[in-house]
Amino acid sequence: MSSRTLGLGDDLHRYLLATGLRESDVARRLRAATAVLPLARMQISPEQGALMQLLVRLTGARHTLEVGTFTGYSALVVAEVLPPDGTVLACDVSAEWTAIGRPFWEEAGVAGRIDLRLGPALDTLDALLAQGATGRFDFAFIDADKANYDGYYERALALLRTGGLVAIDNTLWSGAVIDPQRDDADTVAIRALNLKLRRDARVDMVLLPVGDGLTLARKR
Ligand code: CA
Repeated sequence: MSSRTLGLGDDLHRYLLATGLRESDVARRLRAATAVLPLARMQISPEQGALMQLLVRLTGARHTLEVGTFTGYSALVVAEVLPPDGTVLACDVSAEWTAIGRPFWEEAGVAGRIDLRLGPALDTLDALLAQGATGRFDFAFIDADKANYDGYYERALALLRTGGLVAIDNTLWSGAVIDPQRDDADTVAIRALNLKLRRDARVDMVLLPVGDGLTLARKR
């Protein structure tokens, strides 16, 4: 959840947005169009978008994967910094939400880089693996239903090349991870994945307090 970094007050967040990152005009307008929706909290923060852009550039990513596209802000910002032949394979179950982003993708000139696959992401990822796409991706962003996070992580890791990076969103879950009263499936799944990642020898990792918690794991 949380479309801004946890723990920042209004004034400091405004300062961060004004001085701490760059955001294209198209991305800013897609964010504004999303902010009025009832599920606006599912939107990633602009500071997180800017970090993801830097990570995509740092890894020299060309082929990227996204699990959970919502209204298309994260796909847009990643596509903006990809080379011309770069791709975002974007998985989501909602035609309605993703349709909000498409005109902005087109306006930004990156719609051709975004391959939207509507349907359950586990099925899409399994189909990719069955087609021999193991190791073909450079960067993956996971931000869909939390109960399936472990399944998304395992498949993304298989699809990444060595040295590829997976970014997992909402890993602090608005603080629910340390709330003993919270035992819903989403919270339990996030806690379990956090503990698993901590000792997962297949990756180098860190959980950053950006947005609602963003875990970065680099495939060894
Ligand atoms: Ca999220």
